Amino acid sequence: MTVLKGADVVGQMKEELTAALAALRVTPRLAIVRVGERADDLAYERGAIKRLSGLGLQASVFAYPADISQEDFLAAFRRINDDPAIHGILVFRPLPGQIDDGAVIAAIAPGKDVDGISPVNMAKVYAGDPAGFAPCTAAAVMAMLDYGKVELKGRRVTVVGRSLVVGKPLAMLLLGRHATVTVCHSRTADLPAACRQAEVLAACVGKAKMLGKEHIAPGGTVIDVGINVDADGSLCGDVDYAAVADIAGLITPVPGGVGAVTTAILARHVIRAAAGAQAGAQDLR
Ligand code: NDP
Repeated sequence: MTVLKGADVVGQMKEELTAALAALRVTPRLAIVRVGERADDLAYERGAIKRLSGLGLQASVFAYPADISQEDFLAAFRRINDDPAIHGILVFRPLPGQIDDGAVIAAIAPGKDVDGISPVNMAKVYAGDPAGFAPCTAAAVMAMLDYGKVELKGRRVTVVGRSLVVGKPLAMLLLGRHATVTVCHSRTADLPAACRQAEVLAACVGKAKMLGKEHIAPGGTVIDVGINVDADGSLCGDVDYAAVADIAGLITPVPGGVGAVTTAILARHVIRAAAGAQAGAQDLR
């Protein structure tokens, strides 16, 4: 069995990111927009700032109190959106109940929407237009498959999970690469059979170690997107790694798998957004 580590994929991407950065006249800057102080948001924020600055990008946090009104939040959000010194925006969601998620999604400038939440970028992903920003996690899964030289054309791929953030856009990216895609969810009848028939399985469920031996095809590729805490308080994926290690042909670990690559994709997207802004500014001259 081969273990496909996120760090190896990021190592390969670093060269590409360094060259793209060198071609820019500005330092790409990401705005991380956070409302409240959820522990998982804070943990992600710390990791993202560290990794992005390690890659030569800037990240600034715009934090607001959990009880901020929708009006005040949207006003602040528009200022960030309109600031030419900010190239990419990452909004932690879900937002508190008093703020309409849809209003934020509608407001974000598609050119700064580096995590692909706006309808414009979603449509591009669905249309197979590479000019759009796909959600970073879905793009990270594709980067891992490419690094692992996993053939997708004509292959049976099962995606477990159909969220707008991970499962659905991933299914679209896989279709764009000519895979035969099955998407499973909480109402899927006979999930083990739908998973076992897959040559490539992507687990995007959010349930600790839910997928075990009975879900894995011998020699199959297993990409574990889940980030969960198990009964002992340790970080784990959606796949029971120890149980399937002997069966899978290639597997991504948690931690140390998709999560690390997601931040590198975020960096790639912010660099692309900065390059787009730089080209746009040139056109205006
Ligand atoms: P959501 O909760 O939005 O979606 C979970 C999906 O799993 C839903 O489509 C749901 O089905 C499906 N599901 C839930 N229970 C079952 C079940 N018993 N059988 C089959 N399908 C089921 O989660 P996200 O998509 O946001 O995230 C998924 C996982 O990925 C989480 O662990 C999250 O932490 C992780 N994640 C990792 C990232 C990374 O960088 N590595 C980034 C983002 C997320 P239904 O639609 O029917 O409810």
